Amino acid sequence: MAIVKCKIQRCNIMIDDSDGSNKCGKCKARTGNHHDRLRQKAFKTFGKVCMNTNCELTSRGVPLPTDVLEVDHIKEVSSFPDNANVQEINDISNLQVLCVYCHKLKKKHTIE
Ligand SMILES: [Zn+2]
Ligand SMILES: [Zn+2]
Repeated sequence: MAIVKCKIQRCNIMIDDSDGSNKCGKCKARTGNHHDRLRQKAFKTFGKVCMNTNCELTSRGVPLPTDVLEVDHIKEVSSFPDNANVQEINDISNLQVLCVYCHKLKKKHTIE
């Protein structure tokens, strides 16, 4: 076990780098090649639909091609502790599929 600084620029959080990735949990969830794998995992589990029950596009019957669907972390990556376990952040129970439109709305609400 080694205590190192997260190597992502401007992060510099001290982490216990037991897996040798040199990134804290948050940076790992945000960067790297997780993205495509997460998408596939989420689509497989939930289907290629917007999961917001109030989705305006879905309720209007607008077809949603995969390129307008995004994988969202239900609990925001930023709300996890800095040394969070990336498996926990990217666990399927913390993922949902949203269309770009609903994803933007959600981000607006959580940021402000
Ligand atoms: Zn970091
Ligand atoms: Zn939607």
